[in-house]
Amino acid sequence: MIEKSDAPLAHPSLYGAGTEGVPVIFAGRCTHCGRVGFPRQAYGCEACGAHGAALADMDLPADGELISFAEVHRHHGADIDTPFVMAEVRLDGGPLLRATLAPRRAVGLKVGARLRGMLVAGDRPGAALELRFAPVEG
Ligand SMILES: [Zn+2]
Repeated sequence: MIEKSDAPLAHPSLYGAGTEGVPVIFAGRCTHCGRVGFPRQAYGCEACGAHGAALADMDLPADGELISFAEVHRHHGADIDTPFVMAEVRLDGGPLLRATLAPRRAVGLKVGARLRGMLVAGDRPGAALELRFAPVEG
């Protein structure tokens, strides 16, 4: 789900709006060994060291599985209101990433739940669109 908004993305080098209503994660794939990594980088494959033309861009749908989560009640940053939920998400395309969940509370969350990314406005007025994940119903 993508909110209707003209707001810019908070991290346009890491994710984009996608085309089918599912945001995409900008990952990279090593054409030598097949490893898929995030974030996309040009230093070299984390598995085999291949670099240069061996590293290809790969857009991954923001679909994955909930690996772990924690409900945060105290936070030093001023950019997000508490409570919020931080999670580790295993993308279907391979990489594990840490992300904020759209639900503000962890009630009802279960490890292994299906998650889908969505672009939502940050908590401050005029904030850019952030990628957050939410459980997929059903
Ligand atoms: Zn490699």
